[in-house]
Amino acid sequence: MDLTSRQEKIIEIVKENGPITGESIAEKLDLTRATLRPDLAILTMAGFLDARPRVGYFFTGKTGTELLTEALKKMNVKEYQSIPIVVDENVSVYDAICTMFLEDVGTLFVVNQNSILVGVLSRKDLLRASMGKQDLTDIPVHIIMTRMPNITICMKDELLIEAAQKLIDKQIDALPVVIETEIGFEVVGRLTKTNITKAFVELTRDQI
Ligand code: ADP
Repeated sequence: MDLTSRQEKIIEIVKENGPITGESIAEKLDLTRATLRPDLAILTMAGFLDARPRVGYFFTGKTGTELLTEALKKMNVKEYQSIPIVVDENVSVYDAICTMFLEDVGTLFVVNQNSILVGVLSRKDLLRASMGKQDLTDIPVHIIMTRMPNITICMKDELLIEAAQKLIDKQIDALPVVIETEIGFEVVGRLTKTNITKAFVELTRDQI
């Protein structure tokens, strides 16, 4: 985050003199305590300074990168996931293509009659199936999908950064967010590269 020159000065003062009261910082800068209050609030919320009642402000010693890592470690899949779009394993490739267009998604999750995850369909899976001369209304998606147990999943309480790592490692665009049941995994969400991009942008917006 970009700090104002006054905020930089406050950090320097606290570094040298901390613990120091807000009153004393204000005096050193020739400002009133009230003028300084928003800056102190920002610096405390952003993690540069810490405040202890009756003791004052002190420098946390954390660098911008450390603070960013801390913020990343608070971001969970459930806060950023999207609604999953699922199709039954017996629908045709043709219907899956229609669903993909209508729902405006790049990945479909395939479930069995018990609503348990059995496969994944990407855009290229459907394109590949469309290259032959076969009638697409005749091919069920379970023939062409990537199937269990080869599906990379994530849980809603997982760290976003861990899910992002899976997307990179497996070179895929989306992960089903699942909950485990006795009969398999139930799909409760969808985590895509777009969700990660949104979270990335939000990281900067959070900084006041
Ligand atoms: P595309 O194939 O359109 O580039 P992906 O990169 O997401 O999209 O998919 C690449 C391959 O990986 C496809 O065959 C797809 O079925 C498979 N795939 C996609 N998501 C997953 C996942 N979560 N787990 C396992 N395989 C997946």
